[in-house]
Amino acid sequence: MRILIVEDEQRLAEALAQILSKNKYTADISLDGESGLDNALSGIYDAIILDVMLPKLSGFEILRTMRAERVTTPVMMLTAKDDISDKVTGLDLGADDYLTKPFSTEELLARLRALIRRKSDAVCENTLSFSDLSLNLDTFELICKGKSVKLGLKEFDIMKILLSYGSRVLSKEILIEKVWGYDSEAEYNNVEVYISFLRKKLMHLKSGVSIKTIRGVGYSLEAQ
Ligand code: CA
Repeated sequence: MRILIVEDEQRLAEALAQILSKNKYTADISLDGESGLDNALSGIYDAIILDVMLPKLSGFEILRTMRAERVTTPVMMLTAKDDISDKVTGLDLGADDYLTKPFSTEELLARLRALIRRKSDAVCENTLSFSDLSLNLDTFELICKGKSVKLGLKEFDIMKILLSYGSRVLSKEILIEKVWGYDSEAEYNNVEVYISFLRKKLMHLKSGVSIKTIRGVGYSLEAQ
């Protein structure tokens, strides 16, 4: 689990990172709004802890841009004590939870767990993910860092199987069987053509994921 902390009070940010790594999370820190937004848009985080008052860009602006770019990473806002309007603004902009400073370690960890659990429950229903890539099973959209492309039917079927295998090797025979069916006359060339379409789309999305060819065997996904 990888968590992004966007917080300009360096000591607080480092204390948070320490708590998180003690609890088996990987934590990255952004000390200002600009780097926070860059990192948030990467889509690689399982959750983001986001302060409101930040240099360069506020937490609200980061959240607004993220949601506009359709980055759905769960966000926990850090708000000042008793500032109800901050809480309301954050929730309206699509924050998933908020935590009032000062907070206890136990509360932080419990809320973070709940946040990630809710998100993964929701994700299981209609998307498949690998690294920075996710496939919406309802809309046939392949999504990366807030950008998306629509897949054709066969591309979708192939991508779905590749994502479910992830970095495991998927043999061409199994792929053909699953996409074209047992008795299909589909030739290996067919598969190559669709794989090359998908590679172009991954490049277009600037995804760090690539489809690796394992000669004579099949394919696997590789994250940069
Ligand atoms: Ca601050």
